[in-house]
Amino acid sequence: MSRGTKIVATIGPASTDFDVLCKMIRAGVDVVRLNFSHGKAQDHIDRANLVRRAAAECGREVAIMADMQGPKIRIGKFEGGKIELANGDSFILDAKWGENGELGNQEKVGLDYKALPQDVHPGDTLLLNDGLIVLTVVRVIGSEIHTTVKIGGELSNNKGINRQGGGLTAPALTAKDMEDIKTAMSFQADYLAISFPKNATDMAMARQLANIAGEPFRHKPMMIAKIERAEAIPALAEILGASDGIMVARGDLAVEVGNAAVPALQKRMIKMAREANKLAITATQMMESMIVNAVPTRAEVSDVANAVLDGTDAVMASAETAAGKYPIETVEMMAAICVEAEQSEYNKLDADFLNVQFTRIDQSIAYGALFTAHHLRVKAIVALTESGSTALWMSRHSIDTPIFALTPSVTTARKASLYRNVRAYQLQQGTDSAVVLREAEELLVEYGIVRKGDMIVVTWGEPMGQVGGTNALKIVRVGEFS
Ligand code: PGA
Ligand code: MN
Repeated sequence: MSRGTKIVATIGPASTDFDVLCKMIRAGVDVVRLNFSHGKAQDHIDRANLVRRAAAECGREVAIMADMQGPKIRIGKFEGGKIELANGDSFILDAKWGENGELGNQEKVGLDYKALPQDVHPGDTLLLNDGLIVLTVVRVIGSEIHTTVKIGGELSNNKGINRQGGGLTAPALTAKDMEDIKTAMSFQADYLAISFPKNATDMAMARQLANIAGEPFRHKPMMIAKIERAEAIPALAEILGASDGIMVARGDLAVEVGNAAVPALQKRMIKMAREANKLAITATQMMESMIVNAVPTRAEVSDVANAVLDGTDAVMASAETAAGKYPIETVEMMAAICVEAEQSEYNKLDADFLNVQFTRIDQSIAYGALFTAHHLRVKAIVALTESGSTALWMSRHSIDTPIFALTPSVTTARKASLYRNVRAYQLQQGTDSAVVLREAEELLVEYGIVRKGDMIVVTWGEPMGQVGGTNALKIVRVGEFS
């Protein structure tokens, strides 16, 4: 395997096309993100079907991540679609304006989040349109927030609002999200990303809703917490505990905590996720200029490479692949940057297992396999796994041996698309481990991953055919039996 870091690509108007999608998958997309902030339920169902068809065409397992809109707090619409605010202007955000269809003007605009006047106080800084416009709250009178424009500019319909420092009380799960979770489970989205969670309870609630909605399909998605609220930072440990992974959602996070704080937070968040045996995705503006240009900026190249060196499981494309001019080139570029960064001397081995306490047998086997693989210089680690958890544990440590998860479960194979250094394939597994081991070997040879004479480390659970309980490790020389 030449690339360990995975690529998440958002699809939209620029990429909702069978051929484009096939090309993107061949260029390296591992996970497709459906952004529920745009489009109707049926659009997402159609897109999910398209992704499944394209993945089948390419002979690859690709995961689908359904990303919930969450409580994006927005202004209403303007008479002319937009206004121009100058520094020093007075401007009013009015929760009641628009109730009878009034449109915004140079003086005031409506709010779709009606509780905002209760959440803000004089002196607060409000950031509109991803922080491009900055307002200072002067006073709150009933439903009206009176502000002074600190940094002006063009303000158009439905732009988002953040409060610097966080503190907005909007719940993470909106009524729309609850409906969208049902839609996502109807096509068995492998990952569910929750926007703006504040704590473990938000994630637990979302998981519960997803599991209930997935029950008819016996489907449980993996839960990703988008870390994009100031409050989520001190709550990171508990949020990780209630999630399967996090997204470093730099777009909204930067607005809430100040953009200069984000790079160090990214490093801390990825480290904490790995140490908690959880996944990490680095997102937003990674290849931003490729929305319009065929090549990225130097800074964007460095950003992707640095996320790889930080240990992220995946780098993500947003508008670049959803609405940009160069969706395929963006993926090719990201893939090439990942490969090169992984080969660098700064992509450090994590070979120190002396401080790790084992509490579980399967975990001990996972570490044993890593240790053996590294020191014996084997070609691959092969995890025969039902749930994928052994492969996930192994992938939390950075070593130089690729991990192959062979699983009878198609869902497990798809989910593993996001795990760094893991490639998953479907393999039906009987109860005789000698037979399954031989079949595993044959599959790896068939896919050109190993050759006769190569050494591999295989882990599995004895007796075979049961979920969980990895308890065996074997060093195999390929072709020994044939
Ligand atoms: P969004 O989330 O693209 O759904 O806003 C990502 C981010 O905020 O960075
Ligand atoms: Mn966001």
